[in-house]
Amino acid sequence: MSDLLEFAQSDPGLLIGGEWREAHAGGRFAVLDPADGTELAKAADGSVHDAVDALDAAVAAQAAWAETAPRERGEILRAGYAGVTAHADEFARLISLEMGKTLAEAKGEVGYGAEFLRWFSEEAVRVHGRWMHAPAGGSRLLTMKKPVGPCLLITPWNFPLAMATRKIGPAIAAGCTMVVKPAELTPLTTLALARVLTEAGLPPGVLNVVTTSDSAALSKELMADDRLRKVSFTGSTEVGKILVRQSAGELQRLSMELGGNAPFLVFEDADVAAAVDGAMLAKMRNMGEACTSANRFLVHESVAEEFGARLAERMAALRTGRGQDDGVDVGPLINPDAVESIDQLVTDAVHDGATLLTGGKVPDGPGYFYPPTVLSGVPEDSQINGVEIFGPVAPISTFADEDEAVRRANGTEYGLVAYAYTRDLARTIRLAERLEFGMLGLNTGLVSNPAAPFGGVKSSGFGREGGFEGIEEYLSTTYVGIGVS
Ligand code: ADP
Repeated sequence: MSDLLEFAQSDPGLLIGGEWREAHAGGRFAVLDPADGTELAKAADGSVHDAVDALDAAVAAQAAWAETAPRERGEILRAGYAGVTAHADEFARLISLEMGKTLAEAKGEVGYGAEFLRWFSEEAVRVHGRWMHAPAGGSRLLTMKKPVGPCLLITPWNFPLAMATRKIGPAIAAGCTMVVKPAELTPLTTLALARVLTEAGLPPGVLNVVTTSDSAALSKELMADDRLRKVSFTGSTEVGKILVRQSAGELQRLSMELGGNAPFLVFEDADVAAAVDGAMLAKMRNMGEACTSANRFLVHESVAEEFGARLAERMAALRTGRGQDDGVDVGPLINPDAVESIDQLVTDAVHDGATLLTGGKVPDGPGYFYPPTVLSGVPEDSQINGVEIFGPVAPISTFADEDEAVRRANGTEYGLVAYAYTRDLARTIRLAERLEFGMLGLNTGLVSNPAAPFGGVKSSGFGREGGFEGIEEYLSTTYVGIGVS
């Protein structure tokens, strides 16, 4: 399958009921290279009509798929894992081309993304219920798990492979069929993944893929259909709220992985060198285009200067350029709007009194580049501390004590992930208890792991992906009361 790249770029169309076919209206939209804005490929522009066909196919396949042996579903996922891994270089190239990240980062995503297929291949055979005596005696209580039914899986552009596998993996394992709707900016990786999973033995209709330039219309139509039973979404809080409202009509089950505003705390007792390493990872993974990206650096006043200087030195040494070129550390951002909004946040922060330690200047075109940037002395109420930056900018503020650090860390509508560097064991426990986030990275700048439950609280959404929890999102519980007297 050395033609996987070629396949994804050859406008294969929509995958519906096991067939690749054109959109009904025959429309296509362009997929652009963010390094220079040129066209990489065209993708089929699926309409509401196509989406309903895809749901029809998912509904038709649901009953038989739910009855397959768990081991069979697990083996298909395992073969999918092998397929993605065997084509790691092609997947990495495709991700890098359509999304912009460097090849090294894209390879990292392939490893991470494939691992969801392996993890859920193992989870497929571990779905079980319980059997108990009713507390008052006289009957027995049996619980069993069933697939929730046909799902709509909506993925974002920042991790085109991993955000797809961490929804598709558990859906397959649980016995659900699905319609996948990739981001219009990065649809190609999903097409390649669908082909690999089909070749891994997935029966027709289990996985349907509809690419479109009009996601809103498609999801609205599908969510108004009572045959759709579940929506899993990763993207902005704004769109997540629309989908939550939309789900009220037919009461679909929901998983919502939304925005973040991760605080990165460095305490006075931290290993500052390790904190800088962690900061580079937490900030620069995916060029800062991740909901887990460290958004606000809150550093104890006694170590802030040292931390800022070291971080600025590391950030200034990074080379920006086309993600597929040798020696490049930082690729382009996804589109011109991203560059403009980040530039505005930095300009405003400087206006508010922050000091630019490195970066902060948009280079001349082509491409959507923004340089790695560090700001120190950022006032607490500066806008950059209140919004998701989604780019390579590290704003540093100081705090005086742990209470202030916790208060400021929690002072956001978001609650996805927090990071903290400290060598005080008691403090780590206090932080884990007091920080209002779904995840906490202690002395590490990377929390994402297929074996761990990823997800947030507050405006970061609800539901968990990965871990033992991940498959639960695709299962419903049936309870059977049994009289025995
Ligand atoms: P981002 O800000 O990361 O681009 P979005 O929330 O806009 O995040 O997009 C995430 C996913 O949601 C993409 O697949 C996009 O096509 C889709 N999307 C955007 N708007 C809507 C909508 N109104 N209804 C359903 N899906 C949408």
